[in-house]
Amino acid sequence: MDLTYKRQNIYAVCDEAERKRIFEYNEGYKKFLDNGKTERETVAETVAMVEAAGYKPYTLGDKINKGDKLYYNNRGKALFILRAGTADVAKNGVRILVAHVDSPRLDLKQVPLFEKADMAYLKTHYYGGIKKYQWLTIPLALHGVVVLKNGNKVNVNIGESESDPVFYISDLLPHLSQEQYSKSISEGFQAENLNLLIGGIPAVGEDKEAVKKGVLALLNEKYGMVEEDFLSAELEAVPAVKAKDVGLDRAFVASYGHDDRVCAYPEITATLQTETEQTVLTILADKEEIGSEGNTGMQCILIRDLLDEIAKSYGVNPSVLREHSMCLSADVTAGYDPAFASAFEEMNVGFVGKGVTMNKFTGARGKSGSNDASAEFIGYLRKVLEKDGVIWQTGELGRVDLGGGGTVAKYIANNNIDTVDMGVPVLSMHAPYELVSKADVYSAHKAFSAFVK
Ligand code: MN
Ligand code: MN
Repeated sequence: MDLTYKRQNIYAVCDEAERKRIFEYNEGYKKFLDNGKTERETVAETVAMVEAAGYKPYTLGDKINKGDKLYYNNRGKALFILRAGTADVAKNGVRILVAHVDSPRLDLKQVPLFEKADMAYLKTHYYGGIKKYQWLTIPLALHGVVVLKNGNKVNVNIGESESDPVFYISDLLPHLSQEQYSKSISEGFQAENLNLLIGGIPAVGEDKEAVKKGVLALLNEKYGMVEEDFLSAELEAVPAVKAKDVGLDRAFVASYGHDDRVCAYPEITATLQTETEQTVLTILADKEEIGSEGNTGMQCILIRDLLDEIAKSYGVNPSVLREHSMCLSADVTAGYDPAFASAFEEMNVGFVGKGVTMNKFTGARGKSGSNDASAEFIGYLRKVLEKDGVIWQTGELGRVDLGGGGTVAKYIANNNIDTVDMGVPVLSMHAPYELVSKADVYSAHKAFSAFVK
């Protein structure tokens, strides 16, 4: 009898049929990635998926009946998908899956447009934790909405189709970079220089700001907007790249925004495809990358309102329902990267290809700011995952005292709900083009399916 703990490489132990399922599953995932690059687009894409599966919009205050399939669209940026089960929610509570659908990016400022040296630019304010230099000299697309003076909302999506132009942020040539090389990476690239090049042809007959006026004329023609309309716009620059297989054996997928759509997609498929009597609440959250603030982030009381509506409809005490509910906070974790081995502690890190990774705790400097899940809850989950043959592993974000990070887990747990972090290990997290193993994406689907059963 082997008494030691070992991780397993899924590709090494799975049979041919399972490998085929892994690869087929990831074809769907890649489409999901390419069709939704922002929180708004991912919510819209998911609404279409759940509506096709018979889910109906829910209005707060309406009675929820056993067997109902509902969704609550929070301002087009966050989504709650509810499967009202037949099981007793006073005993079993609600099974909650939560992932976030916002990703690091460059947001336009509210007064963004300027001209310098006959080139027109849009100023940005980055959203979430980025390494600024990674966003230079790559093709960027512009996604979002503009609310015009007349109240009409126009959707913007430029840079994704083959015939679209893209936007661009320049870097200094190596020949002239002696000063830049001598600076630290965090000082060598200034946030105020993350300006998107948007035009270079002066408007005819203008002598002041002619290029800027040329750009405004094009925006006016296409969207009916004037410069002041940027005030009521949310425009996000994201990498104009598509999800691609990586490696001759196609073991991996590279994409923008795996964090955290690589957990959102398995949540959705697990929710739509699993036969279950449990009540399942699946959440796509916004604003995780900036602290889960605001009315579309997980600190908003909306989750509490929805749990209350379930309790009221089922005739159950809401505090009893919450006490018996449990949650997988599905967010990515750092995958072990041999190129940066010293950032990790090799016994306690998620390895790419070895399955969806549970983080008992996150946080920084002595677990600070972390939801530290209980041994009892993890013991329960071990049994659930084992029963369905899910290959999974445990990990921490990195070496102790090197840095750290948090997730939405604590905001769910604050409602007296057992919660643990579980997600796909990612290489180059928060880079414009991140990498995951296909085997881990499918492992997440299997783990979330087992949890909602
Ligand atoms: Mn995340
Ligand atoms: Mn993140």
